[in-house]
Parts: sequence; structure tokens; C-alpha cells
Amino acid sequence: MPAGDTLHEACGVVGIYAPGNEVARHAYFGLYALQHRGQESAGIAVSDGATIVCHREMGLISSIFDEEILGNLTGYIAVGHTRYSTTGSSVVVNAQPLLEHADFGDVTVSHNGNLTNTGDLRSTLDAATVLQATSDSEVLAKAIVQAPGADMIARIRHVMGRAEGAYSIVMSTEKSLYAFRDPWGVRPLCYGRFPGGGYMFASESCALATVGAQYIRELDAGEIMWVDNDGLHYDKMAHHKPQALCMFEYIYFARPDSVLSGKSIYMARMAMGRQLAREHPVDADVVMAIPDSAIPGGIGYAQEAGLPYVEGLIKNRYIGRTFISPDQKMRARGVQLKFNPIVELLAGQRVVVVDDSIVRGTTTPRIVKLLRDAGAREVHVRITSPPIIHPCYLGVDMASHDELIAANFTIDEIREKIGADSLGYLSKEGLLDAIARKRGQMCMGCLTGEYPETYNGPAVLATAAR
Ligand code: SF4
Repeated sequence: MPAGDTLHEACGVVGIYAPGNEVARHAYFGLYALQHRGQESAGIAVSDGATIVCHREMGLISSIFDEEILGNLTGYIAVGHTRYSTTGSSVVVNAQPLLEHADFGDVTVSHNGNLTNTGDLRSTLDAATVLQATSDSEVLAKAIVQAPGADMIARIRHVMGRAEGAYSIVMSTEKSLYAFRDPWGVRPLCYGRFPGGGYMFASESCALATVGAQYIRELDAGEIMWVDNDGLHYDKMAHHKPQALCMFEYIYFARPDSVLSGKSIYMARMAMGRQLAREHPVDADVVMAIPDSAIPGGIGYAQEAGLPYVEGLIKNRYIGRTFISPDQKMRARGVQLKFNPIVELLAGQRVVVVDDSIVRGTTTPRIVKLLRDAGAREVHVRITSPPIIHPCYLGVDMASHDELIAANFTIDEIREKIGADSLGYLSKEGLLDAIARKRGQMCMGCLTGEYPETYNGPAVLATAAR
């Protein structure tokens, strides 16, 4: 997806229980692997069995932690978080893990997702509760520590019965690590085991692989797992809901080397590209993709179409990290800051350019112009997702209905606006075929208007009000 027209994920979480292991260092590299899920702030909390110490700051993982800080985080339980804010502002008080002080001890919480009933949950908190942060995550964390129950599992179950929306959570007390997923499983969460002993939870399997933990499986929707002195334990919510994993994890969010529901993200994206080629063939000379997330889709399209795949654009991967703002003239040039075309590959060619989505439609016209300026004779845009026609309420910062180009214009009007010779989107059925999932197993709310109804009532789909 081109810069400036992006979907933003709500966060990445990790949790590690590994006596004798360097848990802070493992959490650091686990978060490093999840940096794509949030780049605003990050933190790691570590318990040595008696005290939880937490360090969190604004910025990228690499700029927040150094040897000295990691050296001060000693213990055998770690909880980590990297954040993109979808609720609450981008300030350090909203950075996670959150640290809560309760009468039974300290609790540290990392949350990926978005609650849809924060106000209701907040009204259940003690009247004297002071909220430091402005995010739904703090309300959730306080609700857990204030919940009735003889133990932490009872408290978690109590809150899971009341919280609505998307939440994949890793949290710890001084002595135990907990991980759980909302009853719909909207955001991912998996776990694995270290060969030498100990367990790790993470938003994506790529974080496990990075630190040498062996992937076991994803947590089921509504499942609670915890690790303590006696080992690993499981519990399930009594009422099950249809699975509603976010479709955009497959299309865009997850790293291509991650596995979701047993399916390689890379292979799923290639299959989307192949399906797209079957649905929207075109006479062309070369196929290219917008780097990085659309590359497997581009390769899949090229394979199916029997056309050569070329790297028509080279991405400057560090441009988003600069603190120097471009001046007005440079801003007008827009995408050249991020992408440079390889003229020798494009001049005189009929080019298929594959991308994973168009949100507002602000950047795609600049990409098309960039390719034409580089000499492309024809530019055919192919998108590996169906048109996004509704907003997301479940933790993805997308755009309002009025800003979504596909909610307001026909495909041909969009083609004209972006200046392409042709435009084709993958169908909803084609997308489901490509990942071998059925409608009703995924959240496709922004594509269909049918959202998982995340309250604890009947397990049905709710149609968005427009
Ligand atoms: S509405 Fe769209 S972006 Fe939001 S959770 Fe559902 S599929 Fe994902």
C-alpha cells in the first residue's frame, strides 16, 4: 500500500515466561519483529517474581532500548508492546505495557485491538478510579484488576463477559503470565515454546521465530492461557462465537513470513495475486507491485498471467523515519520521496501494477503518474482486496465513510481519478478462495458492511448502519 494512504494497525504484543532466560532481550527482539504493527511508542515490563519494572517511551524499539535499559529489566516474565494509537492520543502516558497497582499486587497489561463499549466498561469502575491515560486499554486494564473473583482467571473471565470489541491481551502479575483473545478472535495471538523451556506469546509467529521459540498454534477465539510455576494452563469462555479474524491481517497487516490459522501469509498473498489475474486479465508486457506488502500478490499475478515480474519501483525504506519535513515543492512531488522508478524496466511497456488496497485514493494517482513519467505506455492497476466501502470499528485506523474512495465512486470513476488504463479489484469470493476460508469465519466488515457483533449476545452478524 503506498505511503500516505495506509491502514494502520493498532499494536503488537509479546509475553514471555522463561526462567533462566534473558526475557527482556527476547521481548526486545520479539517487538522488533512486530515493529510494522505500530511505530509510535513501545515498552517492556519484566517481573523477577517479586517486583515488576516497566520501561516505555515514544519512538521505535531501536531508539527506546539500549544495553543499559535492557540490563535493568531482569526477571523471568516479560510483557511487551509496540503501539499505533487508534484510541487515545500519541503520548507517552498511553504507551504500553500499562502498570496497575492492585491490593493483591502489581499487574502489567499489553492490548492489541479496540473496544467498542469503553464507556460502558468505564462506568463499571470504582467511583474513585483515576484514569491516567486516554485509551480504551487503560479502562480494560483497570476493569481486570477491579473485577470480582478469587483469582486472576475469574477476573479475566468476568471482564471478557462484559468487554465488547477486539482485544488480544498479554498481561502478567509478579508470578504469572496470562494471554487471551476476545470471543471473536478479531486480532491475532499465537504461542510457542522455547526448546530449553519456557513459553512465548505474540501477535504474529514471526516474533516467535525471531527469538527461536517454536510456534505451537494460535489461541482460539475466547481462549485464556496462562503460565506459572506449574506450567501452561488453558481455559475457554463458555459461549463461543463464530471466528472473525480481521481479513486485513491476510491482505496487509501481518508480516509475509508469519503464519495465520495455519496459512503462510506470503502464500496467501500469492494466491490472491493469482486469483486476481484470473478475474482481471489484461494484455500487458510486465507485472510489478508496490513494495513491500503487495510483492507476493504481484508475483502471483505474474505467474498466473505468464508475464515477467519486474521491480518497477524501488522503495526508500527509511523515509518514514526522517524528522525533517519536506518543503512545499518537495511535498508536491510526493511519492518520489518514497519510491523511485527503474526507467529501463518501464519505458515503452504495458505495465500491470499490483497493490493491496486503495483507501482514500490519494496516493495511487501519483504512483500511476510516476510510472507514466518513467515511460510506461499503459498502466493497469490491480488490487488484491475488494473495494473498502465501510470504516473499521475494531482497531484499524482507516478513514471515515466520506473519505473512502470506493464508498463514494464507481470502479470506473475511480479508474479515471487515478489515471489508470484499467482497474480491477479482487472479488470477495476470490479473496476467501485464496485463503481457503469461508464467509462467517472472517471479519470483512469494511468490505461488506457486516461486522461481527461483538457483544455477548446472539452470535450473528450485524449490518452496518450507513
Ligand atoms: S472491519 Fe476491516 S479492517 Fe476492521 S477488523 Fe474487520 S476486516 Fe479488519
